[in-house]
Amino acid sequence: MALKAIIVGAGIGGLATAIRLRSQLGCDVTVLEKNSTVGGRCNVLVDRGYHFDIGPSLLLMTDVYRDLFASAGENFDEHVKLVKMEPNYRVNFSDGSELEMSSDLPRMIENLEKIEIGAGQGYLRFLYDASLKYRIGRKKFVERNFNKASDFFSIENLMLLGKLNALNTLYGHVSKFFQDDRLRQAFSMQTMYLGISPFSAPAVYTLLAYTELAEDGLYFPLGGTYALPLAMAAVASRIGVEIETGVSVARIIVENGSTRGVQLEDKGFLPADIVISNADLPYTYTDLLQDRPAKYAEERWKKDNFTCSAFNLYLGTDKEFPQLRHHNFFLGPDYRKNFEAIFDRKEIPAYPSFYVNSVTKTDRTLAPHGGDNIFVLVPVPHLSPATKWDPDDIASFKDKVYGQLEDRGLTDLRKHVVVEHVYTPNDWKERFNLKYGAAFGLSHGLAQVGYFRPANRAAHAKGLYFVGASTAPGTGVPLVCIGAKLVVEQIAADLSNGRG
Ligand SMILES: Cc1cc2nc3c(=O)[nH]c(=O)nc-3n(C[C@H](O)[C@H](O)[C@H](O)COP(=O)(O)OP(=O)(O)OC[C@H]3O[C@@H](n4cnc5c(N)ncnc54)[C@H](O)[C@@H]3O)c2cc1C
Repeated sequence: MALKAIIVGAGIGGLATAIRLRSQLGCDVTVLEKNSTVGGRCNVLVDRGYHFDIGPSLLLMTDVYRDLFASAGENFDEHVKLVKMEPNYRVNFSDGSELEMSSDLPRMIENLEKIEIGAGQGYLRFLYDASLKYRIGRKKFVERNFNKASDFFSIENLMLLGKLNALNTLYGHVSKFFQDDRLRQAFSMQTMYLGISPFSAPAVYTLLAYTELAEDGLYFPLGGTYALPLAMAAVASRIGVEIETGVSVARIIVENGSTRGVQLEDKGFLPADIVISNADLPYTYTDLLQDRPAKYAEERWKKDNFTCSAFNLYLGTDKEFPQLRHHNFFLGPDYRKNFEAIFDRKEIPAYPSFYVNSVTKTDRTLAPHGGDNIFVLVPVPHLSPATKWDPDDIASFKDKVYGQLEDRGLTDLRKHVVVEHVYTPNDWKERFNLKYGAAFGLSHGLAQVGYFRPANRAAHAKGLYFVGASTAPGTGVPLVCIGAKLVVEQIAADLSNGRG
């Protein structure tokens, strides 16, 4: 008889794991999602003809999705139509200058030379260095399970960590290639995709800029990023996975060191041979498991480093804003202070850096005729006693963000907003059970990656596994999909040696 697997949560991690468990191991899979839609943070909000992706908008490493769909015998490109961004995005600096980041090499060099004479040569050196980091990082540290310390601390890996400049900060490392501070900003801000600061992130994360500029590129799915989880859910259903939305899991039941199933909020007990929690890992340990190992008790999560959170505006306007590209970054007047406020002092920054997209530039169907669909993401600290986001906080911060958008070129924005939705760290916490509202989950400093990241297999309970942003290998849509592959490999290995 097929093994019965229950997956808690239909985020990207839950859906990808469901597809692989069913197609590769032939499990009988049920996915239980507390919200009314699948996708988790990769979700959609539709209001009066405006279709907003609420979370991810920058899609990287597309080979990962092709591999996932192929595991179920499906062709990804028949399900999701990807458009390659060219240029990738515009970076707007606080002095009014701008840089188009392009994956067209001659064009990119020309753009860089306009800012710093000689930067083209620095860029070529940067690409060479970052390509090594990408290849080594992905193969040796991202796409594999580390079950014991010696898997991570092998002589080979220790030597490779040196090549990855593991002990240098990203900003410091980038400064070796570019002299102009604007370029140092433009090549280090990508750590915000992981919700961490370039002033503390290890240098290896230059692989993010490399991936979008030189490896594969940056993509947008027609219909919006939500096309991805929709297609994943369709493939999962087609191969026999059962997906139930609006079903909240109250407890994962473990007895005598073995996983028995899940207790639902209002519908009784569901037995299972294996349970994989895609609900964020810190929440899973503190809220879904009664007898957790001491090292994962509540206090652990106070000490651990979490990523930042996000303040989002989803704006539908009655006119188009040609001054925006599809993807736009607006960096604040003091780049370093912005990160110090968010990560060191946990304060809402006075002059934040922020990201804006206008998806109608690529897909006109995502807003009514003549209107625009504007997504604003401002990185802010995760929840703490200092940041409560009560209605007054929200009103004043919203006003500040509108003010900055208008000052930086969207002059009459407020007058033209006809649809407005706001997400604060409280929304990220409540809607998706993210501890402290940390939008990207656990952080990615050296002490929380590889062998040090909470593992995808519970040490205290046979048959209990984890997938998603806060377990291995980490956050972001492609990494979470890689995490699904790793957890299924782990389950397969455990089954074959009698541990599953
Ligand atoms: C604003 C924002 C922008 C982002 N931008 C990008 C980007 O451009 N590119 C990129 O690659 N990544 C981006 N990310 C990160 C990316 O969204 C996440 O890393 C990824 O989607 C996480 O997927 P997941 O499966 O780990 O978790 P989740 O998406 O959190 O899914 C977990 C699911 O479990 C459900 N759940 C929780 N508790 C229970 C329970 N008790 N019972 C049943 N179900 C439960 C939740 O409702 C949720 O649906 C962004 C994130 C945010 C918030």
